[in-house]
Amino acid sequence: MNPILKFNLSEFTMENFQSSLAERFMRYVAIDTTADPNSETQPSSMKQKDLSKILVQELLEMGVKDAELDEHGYVYATIPATGNNTAPCICFCAHVDTAPDCSGTNVKPILHQNWQGNDIVLPDDNQVVISTKNHPYLLQRIGDDIITASGLTLLGADDKAGVAIIMDLAKYLMANPQIERGKVSILFTPDEEIGRGVAKIDMQKLGANFGYTLDGGDRGHLEGESFSADGCTIVFNGISAHPGYAKGKMVNAQKVAAYFMTLLPSDAWCPEQTEGYEGFVHPVHMEGGLEVAKVQFIVRDFETAKLAAYEAKLGTLAQEAIAKFCGATFTLSVQEQYRNMREILDLQPHVMAFAKEAYVLSGLNPEIKNIRGGTDGSRLSFMGLPCPNLFTGEMGIHSKQEYVSVQDMEKAVEVCVNILKVSLNYEV
Ligand SMILES: [Zn+2]
Repeated sequence: MNPILKFNLSEFTMENFQSSLAERFMRYVAIDTTADPNSETQPSSMKQKDLSKILVQELLEMGVKDAELDEHGYVYATIPATGNNTAPCICFCAHVDTAPDCSGTNVKPILHQNWQGNDIVLPDDNQVVISTKNHPYLLQRIGDDIITASGLTLLGADDKAGVAIIMDLAKYLMANPQIERGKVSILFTPDEEIGRGVAKIDMQKLGANFGYTLDGGDRGHLEGESFSADGCTIVFNGISAHPGYAKGKMVNAQKVAAYFMTLLPSDAWCPEQTEGYEGFVHPVHMEGGLEVAKVQFIVRDFETAKLAAYEAKLGTLAQEAIAKFCGATFTLSVQEQYRNMREILDLQPHVMAFAKEAYVLSGLNPEIKNIRGGTDGSRLSFMGLPCPNLFTGEMGIHSKQEYVSVQDMEKAVEVCVNILKVSLNYEV
C-alpha cells in the first residue's frame, strides 16, 4: 500500500450530526438475543434473528440497498465508495448475541442522564448497585449519560453497543454523501459468545481489505493482540477386573487421572496465578470410570510456539502419572482453536496505524492492550481480514452490573469516521 496524500483531513467534522445512539441502543437491548451453547443450529438461537431483521430493515430505510440477513444469521451490507475512490474497503463488525451466563430476557434499559457519580441502585433488585467503588472506570464518566439494566438481567452492551455504533456510523455516512470515503462493509455476526461467531461467514461477500470489531471496553483502548489457543485432551486407559478378584490385575483410570492432576503446579501455569503476557494451561472438564478417564484442557499463550511446549509438558506429566500405575496408558490430542491476531496485524501494520491515528484525531490517547482471550477478530484475521478491536464503552459485561456511557459510544462513531478519513490517504 502506497501512502498517497489525497485529502485534507480538516474537511471532516462530526458537527451538526444528530446522533440517535441512546435511543437506538435502548431499542436493541430490549430484544432478547441470548446465544444457546447447547444448540447445534446456526444461529444457536433463532431469536437472534429478531434483532438482525430489524437491523436490515433500518439499513434499507437509510438507503443501504444491499443489506441482507442470510440463513445462518449474518447481516451483510455495503456503503459504496464515493466517486472513483480507490481507498481500501474497510469492514466494521459487531455481534448481536449476548452471553448465556446471565439472563437477557426482558431487558429494561434505564438512561441515567448527566450522571453525577452517585451509586446507581437498580430498581428491580436493590441488591444490585453500580458504584465508582466497584467500577472505578465510572470516575472518568461523571457527567455522561449512563445506561444500565434494571437489576434482573444483563444489559447487553456486549455487544449491542458495537451494533448501535456501527448503525449510527451507517446513518452518518448515508446522510453525508459529500464526505469522500472508500467502500464500507458492515457485518453483524451471531453466536460470538459461544465461540461460533465466524463459523459460516462468506468472506467473498464481505469483500473487505481489513476490518475492525467494535467490542472493546474503556474509551481509548485499542486491542491488537489476543491469545493463541488450543484445546488439549488427555485420555487415561486403565484395566478393568472384577473388584473381588482384582488383586494385581486392576488399574483404575480415575486414580491415574487424579494423580496426574496433583502433578499440575498450583502456584503457576494456571489462570488463577497468571496475568499480563503470561500463558497457562487450565483443566476445564474431567470425567471417567474404571477403564477410561478423560481430562480436557484449554492451553493459552500470546506466543503460538509456546503452546506446543505446554502440550509437551502435559505429556511429560501424564507419562509420570502412568509410571506410577503399572499397565496404565494414555493418549494426548490437541485441537487448534484460534491464534494471536498480532501475527497477521504485524504483516499489515497500516491496520493498527490507521486506528491509532484515528484515535488521536478524535482527541484520544490510544492505549494498546492485549486480550487474554479471543475475539471474532482473532479468527477473522486468519481468514484474510486483519481485524483489531476498538472500544465501545461496554463495561461490567456478562453481569447485571453491565453499563455503557452514551458519550463513549458517540466517541467510537467519531473514531470510525476518522479511520475512513485516515485510510483515504492510502491506496490498496
Ligand atoms: Zn462481545
